[in-house]
Amino acid sequence: MADITRRHFLQVLSAAAGALSGCDSLRRSGSKAHVVVVGGGFGGATAAKTLRSLDADLNITLIEPKANYITCPGSNWLFAGLKTLPQLSVDYQALTDRHRVRVVADNVASIDRDRRRLQLSGGQTLAYDRLILSPGIAFQRDAIAGYSPDMANVFPHAWQAGAQTLLLNRQLQAMPAGGVVLIVAPPDPYRCPPGPYERASMMACWLKQHNSRAKIIILDPKRSFSKQALFEAGWRQHFGYGTTDSMIEWHTLADNPITRLDAQARTVISDFGDRFRGDVLNIIPAQTAATLAIDAGLTDKSGWCPVNPKTAQSLFDQHIHVIGDAAHFTPIPKSAFAANSEAKACAVAVFSLLNQQEVPAPNWLNICYSLITPKHGISVAGVYQLDSEHAVAAIKGAGGTSRVGAGDLSLLEANYAQSAYRSLVNNSFR
Ligand SMILES: Cc1cc2nc3c(=O)[nH]c(=O)nc-3n(C[C@H](O)[C@H](O)[C@H](O)COP(=O)(O)OP(=O)(O)OC[C@H]3O[C@@H](n4cnc5c(N)ncnc54)[C@H](O)[C@@H]3O)c2cc1C
Repeated sequence: MADITRRHFLQVLSAAAGALSGCDSLRRSGSKAHVVVVGGGFGGATAAKTLRSLDADLNITLIEPKANYITCPGSNWLFAGLKTLPQLSVDYQALTDRHRVRVVADNVASIDRDRRRLQLSGGQTLAYDRLILSPGIAFQRDAIAGYSPDMANVFPHAWQAGAQTLLLNRQLQAMPAGGVVLIVAPPDPYRCPPGPYERASMMACWLKQHNSRAKIIILDPKRSFSKQALFEAGWRQHFGYGTTDSMIEWHTLADNPITRLDAQARTVISDFGDRFRGDVLNIIPAQTAATLAIDAGLTDKSGWCPVNPKTAQSLFDQHIHVIGDAAHFTPIPKSAFAANSEAKACAVAVFSLLNQQEVPAPNWLNICYSLITPKHGISVAGVYQLDSEHAVAAIKGAGGTSRVGAGDLSLLEANYAQSAYRSLVNNSFR
């Protein structure tokens, strides 16, 4: 990032922090209201925690079925042996003990929007004054003929971290000498735009040590991808990218996308009939907002939840706020950092609305680090503001990406990636 860009970026960061702390002095007449947060990922946990910091008396319930949340950020690092699943696991103890959030370990089966009630799978019903939804993503069922998300136990997506990540890692490590990993990348928009390319890098690090003739082939329905110049320069430097011996190949199939799977032959087939066989098939399906949001009628034909970005209120229901991957905050990418940022702005909006206060205009941040090797990090950062009542825009000149050929800075960025991960987890869950 150029100096001027970094300075502007830091100014906006401190302005955003000021906007949050300034809300402490707002009226607290809505203290007895009940705010229910659904989904204990980066968005939901941050929203619950921030609400508590704004109002000591508010009645806050978080509903999340899992006792331990496994973070997707950092999960690609497992393929290079840099992380284990327990190191990616976080519980809700701090939310309960330190932030006095009532955490209910259950799944929300349905939302009765007219009566403002949730039906939980365990049988309980729960009334809310305001609902914050951060339920993450679901996978489209019909994008690749012959493939359904139920086949993920054979062809893991590993796009929801946990057992899927371990399965894909076992398949990688059991691959025959000189075998092929196919990564079928998803179309836009999807969670974590640089994720498939960081994954290829981390897998290549392991293969270079243990299966040096193996190949990773990325089949992409997009013409270009996030941080492409940086990834390709890194692949050239470390994995012979662009030569016949390259461990990583990237193919755009924008005009000829993968449309079929022949599961028996472990082969994916493109629109024009080109066949690609892999020993390991990492099919990352096209995505939508989570099923709960779809069933509640909160998505539009894009499959994502349209919101008023200023308040994160659903355009279909003003008592429901949607944040994180499920919501449509374009051009902000779907990332954990963005979910954390959207959650903070949403908590301020909910608090303001409960107290009949003007909702302050939010800023949002996204910083996304990726590792190409354990010692080579790259990053992209963006700062966003309201462009109009219903549109978000990137602030020109704020944010930016690392430089190609940054030399020693790449090592620093790799270290920053690790510390940014720890900070984000602490900031969201502890
Ligand atoms: C491989 C990979 C690497 C990534 N790396 C990064 C990175 O380095 N940096 C970064 O910023 N982002 C990264 N991301 C993206 C990041 O993981 C997501 O953007 C982030 O998790 C979104 O948070 P969320 O709260 O919207 O959803 P989630 O984290 O998916 O949380 C949703 C929660 O809702 C719960 N839920 C769903 N339905 C219900 C229901 N009906 N009832 C109750 N609970 C429900 C789920 O159990 C889940 O815990 C990565 C993603 C992947 C796949």
